[in-house]
Amino acid sequence: MDHFSYEHGALRCEGVAVADVAATVGTPCYVYSAGTLAEHHRRTRDAFAALDPLICYSVKSCGNLGVLRTLTALGSGMDVVSGGELFRARAAGCPPERIVYAGVGKRDDEIAAALDAGIHLLNVESEQEFENIARIARGRGATCRCALRINPDVDPRTHRFTTTGTKETKFGVDIERARAFFRAHGRDPHARLVGLHLHIGSPVTSTDPYVQAVTKALALREELLRDGFEVSVLDVGGGFAADYETGRSPAASDYARAIVPLLEPAVRAGLRIVLEPGRSIAANAGILLTRVQYVKTSGDRTFAICDAGMNALLRPSHYDAFHFIWPAAPGPGFAPHERTREPGMPGLVTVDVVGPLCETGDYLALDRRLPPPARGDLLAVFTAGAYGMSMASRYNSSPLPAEVLVSGEAFTVVRRRETYEDLVAHER
Ligand SMILES: *Cc1c(COP(=O)(O)O)cnc(C)c1O
Repeated sequence: MDHFSYEHGALRCEGVAVADVAATVGTPCYVYSAGTLAEHHRRTRDAFAALDPLICYSVKSCGNLGVLRTLTALGSGMDVVSGGELFRARAAGCPPERIVYAGVGKRDDEIAAALDAGIHLLNVESEQEFENIARIARGRGATCRCALRINPDVDPRTHRFTTTGTKETKFGVDIERARAFFRAHGRDPHARLVGLHLHIGSPVTSTDPYVQAVTKALALREELLRDGFEVSVLDVGGGFAADYETGRSPAASDYARAIVPLLEPAVRAGLRIVLEPGRSIAANAGILLTRVQYVKTSGDRTFAICDAGMNALLRPSHYDAFHFIWPAAPGPGFAPHERTREPGMPGLVTVDVVGPLCETGDYLALDRRLPPPARGDLLAVFTAGAYGMSMASRYNSSPLPAEVLVSGEAFTVVRRRETYEDLVAHER
């Protein structure tokens, strides 16, 4: 699953004791494992090898340049959703022919930057956006490749905030309107409509919604081919789950077993497949380290008040998401066998793990079974690599956490902790 494990009572990331990282760079701090990033990239590539897909890592899941450089060196492409992410992907050295760009609200300057870079694919989300891309491309004497993001109206059965492939969401174009879209725009000489794009939601914890969405996309492609259009790319999107709890989510090979047979005939006949995994690459490759500042009881509740809260990791309060939390040095008898809501060992207490901010919604976990917490304990929040730092905020004037990348026995600070001067640097 990943390269975070307890040895002799202490949590290690690869060959590094995380307590040493905390002692050196302080807390809160994100710690990423380069080995885990590489392993998840390899598993995805191997699972889908029969399709020889272009794997475009989703930058928004964790966009630190150190992470992007690690994945770029492995041959990964990048899926970006803004001009800022395009800038990051380019700064990390990702070749433009491996970059795809989705997003419902692309501005003119963002479209121009994508055209100038010469990226692989612009994933188009509306008729007006397509017309705008075509206009900008014509004005610059440029051509670009576009895929139409279709909304297949498939329920991924995940949180409503991360459901993107049902009709009532803002993403893509209704699948019924796709043929008319191609008839209107499929022969534009500047914005060349060469493919279809899907991204149904995240995390999608069963394979079935992919089967439904891909089946619909392939049927649409057949119709478009009969109508005389080129549909040489199918971007299947991301959304593959991560192991927030040990062994509860499908692996890359499980998704592949369901999806690959559907696509193989078309791929043999020349269709190019793009995948956009984010969470399944980065989530288990990162933890958040936070230190318990105080422990207090109030009524029947025990609070472990930490130096990280919703500012550092928004997912628990925003999505009601579960992250396994455990002390980095849990003491004898408390080594966790698996990451679960119910560790089922004697001596645990029920704790609310909360942050320092002035908000009742500022928590990392509620009603959590933990070894008795003490002031000064170092806690690890697991599976925090994706949508952790990338969603962090400076609420309450909290400087953003440091980020550290571990590779083998060594670690590198890939983003220094922000200072108070950083907090006010843009203000006049
Ligand atoms: C967010 C996003 C992804 C990545 O989703 P994950 O769940 O992190 O795999 C892929 N494609 C698009 C268009 C996205 O918006």
